[in-house]
Amino acid sequence: MNDITLQHSLTDSYIALEALYGAKNYKPLDVVLTRGEGVYVWDVEGRRYLDCLSAYSAVNQGHCHPKILEAMVQQAQRLTLTSRAFRNDQLAAFYEELCALTNSHKVLPMNSGAEAVESALKVARKWGYEVKGVPDGQAEIIVASENFHGRTISIVGFSTDPQSRGGFGPFAPGFKVVPFGDAEALEAAVTPNTVAILLEPIQGEAGVIIPPAGYLKAARELCTRENVILILDEIQTGLGRTGKLLAEEHEGIEADLTLIGKALSGGFYPVSAVLSNTEVMSVLHPGEHGSTFGGNPLACAVARAALRVLVEEGMVENAARVGERLKGQLAAIKAGGVKEVRGRGLMLAVELHPEAGGARRVCEALQARGLLAKETHEHTIRIAPPLILTDEQADWIAGHFAEVLPR
Ligand SMILES: *Cc1c(COP(=O)(O)O)cnc(C)c1O
Repeated sequence: MNDITLQHSLTDSYIALEALYGAKNYKPLDVVLTRGEGVYVWDVEGRRYLDCLSAYSAVNQGHCHPKILEAMVQQAQRLTLTSRAFRNDQLAAFYEELCALTNSHKVLPMNSGAEAVESALKVARKWGYEVKGVPDGQAEIIVASENFHGRTISIVGFSTDPQSRGGFGPFAPGFKVVPFGDAEALEAAVTPNTVAILLEPIQGEAGVIIPPAGYLKAARELCTRENVILILDEIQTGLGRTGKLLAEEHEGIEADLTLIGKALSGGFYPVSAVLSNTEVMSVLHPGEHGSTFGGNPLACAVARAALRVLVEEGMVENAARVGERLKGQLAAIKAGGVKEVRGRGLMLAVELHPEAGGARRVCEALQARGLLAKETHEHTIRIAPPLILTDEQADWIAGHFAEVLPR
């Protein structure tokens, strides 16, 4: 027997084995999951938890949704990958259904969220040179402080989080960072060489930060006036999470490029897309951009089912209604350690006062009570359960928060 089989529990042995072989770029809660169904997941000890993270909003439809599962299994038995050197019979229908649902004209299919972001940045730059007439190599893209858009080198290069960017340079030039939520700062940063502004409608990883009312509208007007592309990263806020299909709808605007990912597959498979509402996408020609797996038939079949159940089962409306109920209940908890309860739909957060002992402790206490949530930064607990959450489950979550939040 080696050290690993001598560990106390099954959980400990998995954790030890991971520590032995894995890159340590995550610090997960000490729970090893083996099964999921709807809002619930089970660990290897047989304990059940309500999932309040939903894989960072990739499982909006609930774990192992039977209809998405069926689409995946059926397609996997038929055809999984053709590459884009050939066509497949799922892609066209995926495009058509996604465009109809999101009121878009063009789709560029990718896999991970970061790839969708990279793709949008490339398209925006090319549009800047070919259509706007920006001098070669001078394109500028404006981003917001505390942004999170993924982990590639160009993306972390314009992050303001030292942990995300430290040690990974040199970085791509051409990005300008302005404070999030400040419309005047956006306006002041625009120059004749600005090709795009890239924003999250609500900053998720930063701790569910909602910008002041009117901010996105001001960004939209600025972009229209200055001939700049508005790119909204809805990889986390999109597909029902905030109680609307896209968070941009809360301010009644439309981005030029909208990025979706995560829940586009209901958590079954990495699928992302750039949605385009203008002729911006037409700057791409054959050979100029691509991905071996992007637009593959398995991804398309899974995404089609994931979108269908989101709509057919009323998940977007449910997120709005149950989210409002849960937020109200959380806000009513009398706990001195709580600084603020905020959020939209089922994208909620409880921020603690700095002296309240930290969010990690609260997450560990919730775990012991059968509720999985993850802290973002030191003092914020994000609450983002699957969008199929019922009233009773929302009440149950609030009840446990009432008992563990620091007084
Ligand atoms: C998760 C996320 C990404 C990156 O998606 P990956 O699939 O992890 O590459 C980008 N933007 C936002 C807003 C996200 O939440």
